[in-house]
Amino acid sequence: GRPSQPPSPKAATIPGVRHVIAVASGKGGVGKSTTACNLALALAANGQRVGILDADIYGPSLPKLFGLHGKPRVVSGRTLAPLEGFGVKVMSIGFLVEEETPMIWRGPMVMSAITQMLREVAWGELDVLVVDMPPGTGDAQLTMAQATPLAGAVIVSTPQDLALIDARRGVAMFRKTEVPILGIVENMSYFIAPDTGNRYDIFGHGGARKEAARLGVPFLGEVPLDMALRERSDTGRPIVATDPSSPHSLVYRDVARQV
Ligand code: ADP
Repeated sequence: GRPSQPPSPKAATIPGVRHVIAVASGKGGVGKSTTACNLALALAANGQRVGILDADIYGPSLPKLFGLHGKPRVVSGRTLAPLEGFGVKVMSIGFLVEEETPMIWRGPMVMSAITQMLREVAWGELDVLVVDMPPGTGDAQLTMAQATPLAGAVIVSTPQDLALIDARRGVAMFRKTEVPILGIVENMSYFIAPDTGNRYDIFGHGGARKEAARLGVPFLGEVPLDMALRERSDTGRPIVATDPSSPHSLVYRDVARQV
């Protein structure tokens, strides 16, 4: 008889979740988690039912960004209930381990942790699940890009050449896995001195817009380097939720409308 069908290379969708959007960066420290957090809140502010998953399992920052500390409740078997912050459902490996515990995990453990956080969480009905990806373009990123059908990926970069080279690698990885690139956000795009109003392009400016044009993907917006944004992030009061009319929040709202 005929050989049986090979298993589908595409993994299953998550029940109840309509779209999964990845927020990624080629390297760490460019503001990927800050962007993921505020994008999720902006999507919620635009009227969507939103969840966010911290797939940055080596450096989970969502508990801090959302100001959440509790342990997720077990709802049945191994399934955990996400915590909730500012109307967004949040799941992070940071809820399950101590903050100081170093996570020295091998590849297969990383992969099973990511799939478990996608599938064994009672997300309920969501319009969008935002995934804060691990930085870079290695195995963990690839696992995530293939663990569930992604509606698209948002790439975060600073204007610096080095960050842009890494961002380009990120775009290439998603293209290879046939994930649509929703666009590029330039973070730390410029700085306005609060005392003088003078503008400084600390990491350069406009590099991401140029790179997006070169790659033929949308440019989604520029977020300045800003002390208030950083302070709010560090104290669990993300800017989109706690200062919705600030110019930065409007940029995130605008990005949310485009994805
Ligand atoms: P990543 O997820 O890429 O590692 P984070 O979002 O954790 O980056 O940001 C790294 C640090 O930079 C954090 O302390 C964060 O608060 C800060 N940061 C990110 N974006 C901005 C910004 N636009 N203005 C000021 N500080 C920022």
